[in-house]
Amino acid sequence: MYKKLLERLSAGDELTRDEYLYLIRHRDEARDEAAAMARALCEEYYGRSVFIRGLIEFTNICRNNCFYCGIRAGNEKCERYRLTPEEIITCADNGYSLGFRTFVLQGGEDPYFTDGVLCGVVRELKRRHPDAAVTLSVGERSRESYAALREAGADRYLLRHETSNRRHYEKLHPASMSFDNRQRCIDDLKELGYQVGVGFMVGSPYQTEEDLAGEMIYLRDVKPDMVGIGPFVPHHDTPFGAFDAGSAEMTTFLLSLIRLTLPDVLLPATTALGTVDPAGREKGILAGANVLMPNLSPAGVRGKYLLYDNKICTGDEAAACIECLKARIKKTGREIVTARGDRAERRI
Ligand code: SAH
Repeated sequence: MYKKLLERLSAGDELTRDEYLYLIRHRDEARDEAAAMARALCEEYYGRSVFIRGLIEFTNICRNNCFYCGIRAGNEKCERYRLTPEEIITCADNGYSLGFRTFVLQGGEDPYFTDGVLCGVVRELKRRHPDAAVTLSVGERSRESYAALREAGADRYLLRHETSNRRHYEKLHPASMSFDNRQRCIDDLKELGYQVGVGFMVGSPYQTEEDLAGEMIYLRDVKPDMVGIGPFVPHHDTPFGAFDAGSAEMTTFLLSLIRLTLPDVLLPATTALGTVDPAGREKGILAGANVLMPNLSPAGVRGKYLLYDNKICTGDEAAACIECLKARIKKTGREIVTARGDRAERRI
């Protein structure tokens, strides 16, 4: 039964939520075939290339209080930092000379980074490196703000929806945050012409297998350019500190299902996946992922952008990180390339 479902998925057929649920429940039997099919499909669009994105975690100051996140406003133990616009640009310059052609600016929802300040950073990055893509991942903002940032030159935006189930969303976030606003943001970003990434944590508290099946339907309907998923990992100073982490096994299986559902999607093997399993990122690539996002943040602040416990690569310099990743990926038979890495328009 699972073989038939995988074949239908791979041939472009739409599965129902119950069919996805069946696959998720039978993941132990289905995983190897799902991964092989996902890999083959990925190669049809992207060949053997794995794209890298330089991640600049430029502020851990945040006005929000997501129950899962280590940099939530309510975490008084979090040692806060904010890079200056000049520091962000230096970081990107350094990344450019290491070969990066995409910069991902990620941070908490820090009021210091008004449209004026952030647009200035984006404009300067695009002026210095017109051949590089700029991705923003700075949470929920107004439509006007997204429009101004796009106008300033931002190409892509990552805003994980976190869960497509309203009731589940309300269990992960305080009442001051809203499911509808998150969805509104995603709609606005799409309409403004960004390449948009959504995503969710695997194994977040209260998530069920039914919810995960629902995520596959959500992704198929939204048709994002990128999908970021990684296991939930508890952070000890958050309300979810005592929950279990999500598993690498479930995450890699879902990566395969996502690849089979959205063949040309850009799909990172995330740092969280590398955190719950030392070979997690390689396993992610072998399951159908084609993007890695190594850290470019200055060594002095890396250990402070802690969304969850035991995060990997917090001590390494960017140059060392990239050498390590290159060696790891080579072993999987794939190759890191320094292209912008836009979503493929057609099979190669
Ligand atoms: N403030 C930005 C960036 C958030 S951090 C935003 O709201 O989009 C990027 C992602 O890290 C989040 O979207 C969330 O899915 C993930 N994350 C946060 N806490 C986590 C945890 N404890 N375990 C795993 N992933 C987590």
